[in-house]
Amino acid sequence: MRIRVLGSAAGGGFPQWNCSCPNCSSLRGGSVKARPRTQAQVAVSSGPSSWFLLNASPDLRQQILATPELSVTSSSPGSPISTILLTSAEVDCVMGLLHLREFHPLHIYSTLSVRRILTEENSLFRVLTRSNPPVRWDTLPLDRLIPLVAPSSPSAKDGFFCKAVPLLGGFPDYVSDLLKGSFPPEEAVIGLQLVHKEKRFLYAPSVSGLGEDWQRSVDESDLALLDGTFWKDDELIQAKRSRRTARDMGHLPLSGERGLLKRPFRLGKTKRVIIHINNTNPVLNEESPEHRAVREAGWEIAYDGMEFNL
Ligand SMILES: [Zn+2]
Repeated sequence: MRIRVLGSAAGGGFPQWNCSCPNCSSLRGGSVKARPRTQAQVAVSSGPSSWFLLNASPDLRQQILATPELSVTSSSPGSPISTILLTSAEVDCVMGLLHLREFHPLHIYSTLSVRRILTEENSLFRVLTRSNPPVRWDTLPLDRLIPLVAPSSPSAKDGFFCKAVPLLGGFPDYVSDLLKGSFPPEEAVIGLQLVHKEKRFLYAPSVSGLGEDWQRSVDESDLALLDGTFWKDDELIQAKRSRRTARDMGHLPLSGERGLLKRPFRLGKTKRVIIHINNTNPVLNEESPEHRAVREAGWEIAYDGMEFNL
């Protein structure tokens, strides 16, 4: 299984177009050792000509164009992308679907609630049904391993499985209370555990930190890309960008006694990497004490173009 990080930042990217926080300002001014980052996006492949997308970021068009393996070529005119798996209905996870609308047959996996939000409450996404055959939606059941099927590329069928791990986050603010109230809350935010040839990869860019089951999913994985959105719980309040804490927004912060870095993960098997890093997060500065603390705690920090082979 080959895993490619196409984008590693949280919503807004790094730098964010309207942000003057110390990180964004110093990146624009060239006075910090840090890499620019597009919004979180991961692609997974079992072979050279078939890729799954994990979510569909607002930067997806640019990310596909920057990745030759994902591009259409004259020798293979069909796109190697046909399957998309969604972790939630957040704007940052689904907006890129609109980049894929150009009459291309797509196969989308999500929880039933996420599918209903996109198909019943957001008529904009009906543009996806114009392709022939129209978009195919499949439901991801919670906590159960199911085989993934790529209709346009039968070779991808062999041995790819996925389990949806409930992460107990909330539904996006834009969803009406009526619709929200009719959905099982555990379908709002999931992690995706992909299994191929005995190797397990967990993708969870939003981890609320509630419950304990998700930690077991990390421990049983060979690679885990986890929520690195915020360093501190009150990061956006201090930056005067929000009145909500990281936890209010469904993100377990990295630091603090109950933060991600202090969680008692089993040592040894799992390569742990933070992704979905907000532009206010000091770990983006490669010379900061926070960056060093993440590395010393045994974690890697995702960047655009990072790749893993399992
Ligand atoms: Zn910023």
